[in-house]
Amino acid sequence: MKKLQLYNSLSNSLEDFVPIEKNNVRMYVCGPTVYASPHIGNARPMVIFDVLFRLLKKIYQKVTYVRNITDVDDKINARARERSIALEELTNEVIGELHKNMALLNLLPVSNEPRATFHIQEMLSIIQKLMDSGYAYASHGHILFRVRKMPNYGMLSKRSLDEMIAGSRVEVAPYKEDPMDFILWKPAEDGSPSWDSPFGAGRPGWHLECSAMSHKYLGEKFDIHAGGQDLMFPHHENELAQNYGAFGHLMANYWVHNGMLLADGQKMSKSLGNIISLDEILRQYDGEIVRYVLLGSHYQKTLNWNQQAISQAKRSLDRMYGALRLNNDEEQLEPEENDDDDKVLEALGSNLNTPLALHYLRQITEKIHEAGDPSVVRKLCRTLRRGAKLLGILERNCEDWFPISSGEEITECEIESLMEARRRAKNEKNFPLADQIRAQLLEKNIKIEDMKSGSIWSRK
Ligand SMILES: [Zn+2]
Repeated sequence: MKKLQLYNSLSNSLEDFVPIEKNNVRMYVCGPTVYASPHIGNARPMVIFDVLFRLLKKIYQKVTYVRNITDVDDKINARARERSIALEELTNEVIGELHKNMALLNLLPVSNEPRATFHIQEMLSIIQKLMDSGYAYASHGHILFRVRKMPNYGMLSKRSLDEMIAGSRVEVAPYKEDPMDFILWKPAEDGSPSWDSPFGAGRPGWHLECSAMSHKYLGEKFDIHAGGQDLMFPHHENELAQNYGAFGHLMANYWVHNGMLLADGQKMSKSLGNIISLDEILRQYDGEIVRYVLLGSHYQKTLNWNQQAISQAKRSLDRMYGALRLNNDEEQLEPEENDDDDKVLEALGSNLNTPLALHYLRQITEKIHEAGDPSVVRKLCRTLRRGAKLLGILERNCEDWFPISSGEEITECEIESLMEARRRAKNEKNFPLADQIRAQLLEKNIKIEDMKSGSIWSRK
């Protein structure tokens, strides 16, 4: 069994990972709120925890990975009202785009992707448990969580109640017994979607959905709860408190948080107008380039998204695909299980050290370029592919890669090779990839027309 160490925010230390059941590792990751197209910052946890998922799958027999979708909240309501469309119309639209982009990022499908609005009953049953145990109370149509009843509230984010109040991270409201208390259920407002409940028509608080969905799909106690650092307080702190109040113990053993993403050294914000849309980035760059940049910094550190990092990622991937191209017998690259001296696996096992893993891949790449002997090249290419698979890169045929990533005029031979790649993608029903290839050809002024007899291309 390979060793895995993870930094646990709960203990503030690096810990050996020991699953509750070694035959089924369970992980929950807080997914996106679908009110608008995701930005590049939203893609960071998706890609990082996809690598953790790949690693866990490599080590353990079975991994259950749940990543939710928040499809009801104030921002969604506001946006739907702004556009005069129903909540579901907006959320379905954003989820559609999200799924397309997840496929382009080579994300493996998760075990479950529950949506909040499909789990209102489960949330209500947790509220009932909290009411019964005295952790929740009703006031002016609201149901609130009684924070001061929770022993060690703040244990995850390491804040004391007084600090939280002084930092005015809490909203004072007349219906609260204490300013720290947070909402589990709020009454229906004019026009906003609401659900009937024993506590009156209304809608759930945000934190409650993750408590309900993790409980439903992973049980009362599971292994890993993960998400962005910005979710640690209040979201994860409150989830933890809710499950403790309802079920009497801590919901997860390991709490793993990724650092934030800056765009050219600045925090992305609407007012600065520097929000980078994931959709736009994936129109310009191959998903593997985006993935490479996102894995280029250690997950706990702040990542600076900039043009230099993108160019470096592209150069490294070109070099790697160039190395793979030196092996003329690609069929033989199918992985052969031999992890005895797998440095990439070791780097990832050491608290998911993706920059070190990429460094090893670059080293193998250089060895391939220097090797010469075909049997050595083949062996090293196999090691390269195997390591890259854990990071979710080098998943293309090398012949498809170069026309896509090079900035130069595209040749007929390269167009044909891309047309073939697109045909393959369509046959495999990988429509996001097929669409991406079409867009990439279009960017090189190549137009595709799909006919009954097949697809044809022409220069514009
Ligand atoms: Zn959550």
